[in-house]
Amino acid sequence: MSHKTPILYLLLIALPALLLTGAAIRLLVGVREQLASLEQERQRTIAEKVSGEVVTWVTTLQSELLQQVERLPQPTLQQELRALQQDNPFVRNVFIWESEKGVIFPKSSPVETEEQRFLIRFAPLFKGDYAWQESKSETDTSYSSRVLTKVQRRRSGWIPWFEGNQLHLLGWTEMGGKRIAGIELEMSAVVARLQSLLIPWTEGRLGGQGLELSDGQGGVLVAAGTHSKGQTPFELTLGAHLPHWLFKVYPKQTSSHLAERNILWIGGLLLLLVVASLAAGGFLLVRDAILQRQEALQKTSFVSNVSHELKTPLTSIRMYAELLADNKAATPDVMRNYLNVIVTESERLTRLVNNVLDFGRLEQKRRNYHCEPVKLPEFIISVLETLKGVLEASEMKLEINAEAESLVTADRDALNRVLVNLVDNACKYAAAGKSILVTIGNGKKQTFISVADRGPGIPTAHAKRIFERFFRVDDSVTATVGGSGLGLSIAQQLMHGMGGDLHWSPREGGGSVFTVTLPREDQG
Ligand code: ADP
Repeated sequence: MSHKTPILYLLLIALPALLLTGAAIRLLVGVREQLASLEQERQRTIAEKVSGEVVTWVTTLQSELLQQVERLPQPTLQQELRALQQDNPFVRNVFIWESEKGVIFPKSSPVETEEQRFLIRFAPLFKGDYAWQESKSETDTSYSSRVLTKVQRRRSGWIPWFEGNQLHLLGWTEMGGKRIAGIELEMSAVVARLQSLLIPWTEGRLGGQGLELSDGQGGVLVAAGTHSKGQTPFELTLGAHLPHWLFKVYPKQTSSHLAERNILWIGGLLLLLVVASLAAGGFLLVRDAILQRQEALQKTSFVSNVSHELKTPLTSIRMYAELLADNKAATPDVMRNYLNVIVTESERLTRLVNNVLDFGRLEQKRRNYHCEPVKLPEFIISVLETLKGVLEASEMKLEINAEAESLVTADRDALNRVLVNLVDNACKYAAAGKSILVTIGNGKKQTFISVADRGPGIPTAHAKRIFERFFRVDDSVTATVGGSGLGLSIAQQLMHGMGGDLHWSPREGGGSVFTVTLPREDQG
């Protein structure tokens, strides 16, 4: 596996994840827009319906009022108009106008009365500055205009008039000759009536949705229902009948608004879940790739380490065997020396080969354990006996401290392998300490055997990893000593296989302590 493989894995996961995120965000935005446009469509429908009702009501009122005026008897017109003004709350002022004379009723007075204010308000119209314009029934297709057209036998109309930005409506009709009679609408009564027209809508079908009627300045005339601050309403003008007035419908507070928010939330959460699981999957995959790469590297270095480990003792054996074959040993002592080297080196070879074989069996889960009662310290002494050569070669002094005799359950071969590895390691890495202390002690249910040295110890950061296969501490001592990084990993696995354990701890005063624990046969 090359260096680039994890990056490739990462890209392979990150790219689709990004594309998916992009697509999901677009989808969510699309859904949101669709919901918003649906809500707007709904607002538009409501606005058209309700404002249609408002306009219909206003124009019907206007047409009825003008019909009433038209029907008034000419001789008593003034009295009749006055009576209409008093009886009908929608009539604010009444008037009679003649083309040459101007307003003939009511009479102008110096006192500031409502009537006087009315005459001043409409003075330009009454003076003849403006024409008496009919309602635009041809262009105006609203229901009201159609009603007006039907009843219109004489010229008549409604004139919108603004005073101080306030809308006033003046209705007029020809009464015969050059006489015009008319009325001014009482706008406050109109507004009050419109309020009672809107309330049933919001309280009924619209479920409290906010409706508003406002004038040209944005001043609220009628408000029904509720809306949150900052909500933008859908706005509709009310045509020539109520110029500059706006009908507003606010978005519904509950259902669709909530649904939109819920969809966004759920969508966002799902997206997060997908991206998180992709990221987690990607992380595992990349971690796996890195681990595989590390293992591949370790295996390569394992092969070269083992080859080197095999070669060193073989070279020594061959060299000393050749010396002996050529009769180069001058004295029997030198000959014994040569033979000792050959024995020690072949033992080293055997240990290495045994380790490799054990590793293979453990990897393939083919290692069988034949556990039986083993007597300590007898067994340990016999194992250490076989390591005499190694101990002598590294000039290590061995001390055994056996607190008591004990019977453990163990596979003799496996326990032998573990102890040999531990003592061999002490000779390899802690030879500078010159001594090894092997202690045997009994716990309640377990027996422990510890192998302690006075070597350099193991840094805590590495101590966690020394039982991993192929792991070797990267320091100056290890660099000069051959090894495969398998010994401790095999030893710990063998101990687990026998129901025991192996762990490392720092030794007080410097060095390492490797402790083997085994179940006690006599406490079983
Ligand atoms: P190997 O000895 O083949 O390298 P091991 O699994 O037996 O592999 O040991 C792993 C590493 O632990 C060694 O490379 C060495 O760095 C460290 N180690 C083992 N025993 C000792 C010890 N007694 N003192 C210091 N370091 C040790």
